[in-house]
Formats: sequence, C-alpha cells, structure tokens
Amino acid sequence: MKAEIVAIGTELLLGEIDDTNATYISRELTTIGVDVYLRHTVDDDLGRIVQVLGAAMRRSDVVIVCGGLGPTPDDLTREALAQVTSRALQTVPGAEQHLRQFFAQRHRTVTENNLKQCQVPRGGQLLDNPVGTAPGILVEHEGSTLIAVPGPPPEMREMMHSHVMPYLRDQLHERGDVPLFTRSLRLADIGESTAAEQLADILDNQTDPALALYASPGEVRVRMWTKAESQSEANKKLGSLEQLVRQRLAEHVYGVDHETMEVALGQALLAAGATLAIAESCTGGLIASRITDVPGSSRYFLNGYVTYSNESKQRLLAVEPELIARHGAVSAECAQAMAQGARLASAADYALAVTGIAGPDGGTPEKPVGRVYIAVDDESGGVIRQFDWPGTRSQFKRRVSQMALNLVRKRVLGLA
Ligand code: ATP
Ligand code: MG
Repeated sequence: MKAEIVAIGTELLLGEIDDTNATYISRELTTIGVDVYLRHTVDDDLGRIVQVLGAAMRRSDVVIVCGGLGPTPDDLTREALAQVTSRALQTVPGAEQHLRQFFAQRHRTVTENNLKQCQVPRGGQLLDNPVGTAPGILVEHEGSTLIAVPGPPPEMREMMHSHVMPYLRDQLHERGDVPLFTRSLRLADIGESTAAEQLADILDNQTDPALALYASPGEVRVRMWTKAESQSEANKKLGSLEQLVRQRLAEHVYGVDHETMEVALGQALLAAGATLAIAESCTGGLIASRITDVPGSSRYFLNGYVTYSNESKQRLLAVEPELIARHGAVSAECAQAMAQGARLASAADYALAVTGIAGPDGGTPEKPVGRVYIAVDDESGGVIRQFDWPGTRSQFKRRVSQMALNLVRKRVLGLA
C-alpha cells in the first residue's frame, strides 16, 4: 500500500514551525507496513493544495492531509477535498448537534464558521475528534483514499490512533497484504555502537524478524519487525527475538514501544509504593514536566524544586553556603546536598537532584560546559553520577533529564 503525506500551512513553509506531524504519521504508517513514498508541504493556497492532492491521489492508495481543517478563512482543506473529488460539500447529519454540545460543555458559543466543520464532500465521512473541534474527513475516490486530520499535534495523534490506523489495518487486510508488526526495546545507559557490538551476530544473520538500532539523545532503540498473518503469530516471532536481545542487554532495557523513561519510573515507584521529590538546577523544570506527563503521577510525585540560583538552593533545600563556596554549585557535593534537602523538605522516600553547566558560557578547565552531577538520596544512602555532555542547551537538558530519571528508576529497583 503506497501513501503520501501532505502537510498544509504557510507557517510550515516560513519555517515558523517544524513539520512534526509528518514525521509522526510516517512513523505510524511504517509500523504497519504502509510505504510512505512522498511527503509534501503546501501553503494555505487552494489552487496549490488541489494540485498537490490531485497528483498524490493518482499515484498513491492513501493520501493523508494534515492541517487546515479549522473554521477560519485560511483553513482550506475541506474545500480542497471537495474540489479535487468534484463533489459538493454536505453537512453530516448529527454532526452539528455534536459540535454544539462540545461548545456548550466549554461555555463557548458556536459561530457560523464552526458549522463549516460539519461538512464533508458528498459520500465522505467525518472522523470524530474527542480532543478538539475540527473533525477529520475520510473520502474514498477513484481507487484512492483521502484522509484529512487536524493540524494541532495532540488532535492529529488522537485521530491517527482512533480512526486512521484501524482503517488502514482493515484496508491492508482486505487487500490480502500480510501486515507488518513491530516491537521496539528502549535502552538506556548504553551507546549505539556498544549495543551494536553486543548484538553483532544477530544483526549480521538476521532474516525474519528483522532488527535495527536507532539512537536519539540519551536513548537507543532496538526495533524489530516481521510480517505475519495474525497478532499472535507475530507475538511468537517477535517474542523469541526479544528474548535473545534481552539475554545480551537485559540491564539496559527499560521499556517496550511507547513506554517512555518517565512511564518506566512511574511503574517502578508504584510497585515499590514509594514517593519522589526532585530538585533541578540546569534542567529548569524539564524533569518535573516529564514526570507529570504520565497520567496518575500524583500518586508518587510530591514536589519539584527549580532552584536555579545559589540563594534558592540554600533557602529551599538547606544547602550550606560554605558547601557552595568550597565546592561550587556544580559539584557532586552540591547535587548530594540538594537531593537530601529535597527529600527532607518534602518527606519523600526518594529525591533526585541535578546540577550542571548547560553552556554555552560558564565552563572552566576543571568543569567544562556539559558537566553535570546527578544525585539520588534515600533513607539508606544514595548515589551520585558525573557526566560530560557538551552540546546545545536543549540536547543537554534532554539527556540530563533522561539519565536522571533512569538513575532514580534504577535506585528504586535496587540496580544502582
Ligand atoms: P485549528 O482548528 O486549530 O485551526 P487546523 O486543522 O486548521 O486546526 P492548522 O490551522 O493548520 O490546523 O494548524 C493549527 C496548529 O497546529 C498550528 O498553528 C501548529 O501549531 C500546529 N500544526 C499544524 N500543522 C502542523 C504540522 N505539520 N506539524 C506540527 N504542528 C502542526
Ligand atoms: Mg487552522
């Protein structure tokens, strides 16, 4: 099954926002064995959108369009779908009531513009959007399927998950295509090349399932994939390869598929019935943000301190001024004192602290840019790690947050 993705929006072409939707959609389609052949970015111009959609439909089985479904005059996707399929726009029965309800629940009034969103090209269907007002649209036309999803990433993801992926799976099945099943193991505390070395013979002799390594800041993934008639057959094949990989890399595997580090940490804390507090300097709140991305994190996360200045480290975490004067705010001693201070102040079972030099300024020969200390404190003692990760501020913060979450996770599991 061949697919193309069309991202719509002038702001994409101006470079004001990144086209993360297309990346996400590509990845999702690939996991089920749909081949993405082309991706396009088009500005908010009806003629150009129609032109690109027309060509894409002639070439490909599926065209996924994202953005431009909203109620404002620069949202042209609906109109473009009507033109390219030469079908009139028609209001879907029941959709208007649904939209009015959505607005009423939020104490907002429906405008005439909003009612446009209840229309689809004749014969098409609306895809329900539980997290926003713009529904998606699906139209089958001359052997190709056009699917429009909203631009805001959370709405796009929700619609991919609840409507688009199930539809595509059904299509694959109907065509008799053997679907692709994938599984990813997520690794921490190991580099891509070391992981590759440990799996060298498996990587060299792979047939089915296949596997490959992918690296991003603070993480390596082992992606495994196979074609199979059913989920259970796929589970069997992927399961035996997973076992083989785990035999080599067990202590580095922290999660499977969508289990992020913050999810893995949450599971460890829940299993232990333990609570967590954190004190952040160089990550500026990123760690707390990641922890609270997980639904239910209120069951274990008590407190996050963003203590950026020396004075706040002293006042909120009771770090001794002499300690900072002697060792510096970026030091193993300070990280340890911050963790201890956070734990005592919040009465948590575990506390995590990070302090480092994100750069580009502030480095010294002894403590260069990229130096970071990560400490975990608990009743029975604690651990401290030192790393050097020069890079951009955002790479640095991402990596530090990943390693910090991992360190406390390992501590909770008795692995550090
Ligand atoms: P809305 O009802 O919010 O207007 P829409 O479907 O019309 O939804 P757009 O107006 O195209 O969507 O985009 C809304 C916002 O979604 C953009 O301002 C941008 O923040 C985000 N967005 C749009 N397209 C993309 C994309 N391809 N990748 C990432 N973000 C995007
Ligand atoms: Mg819009």
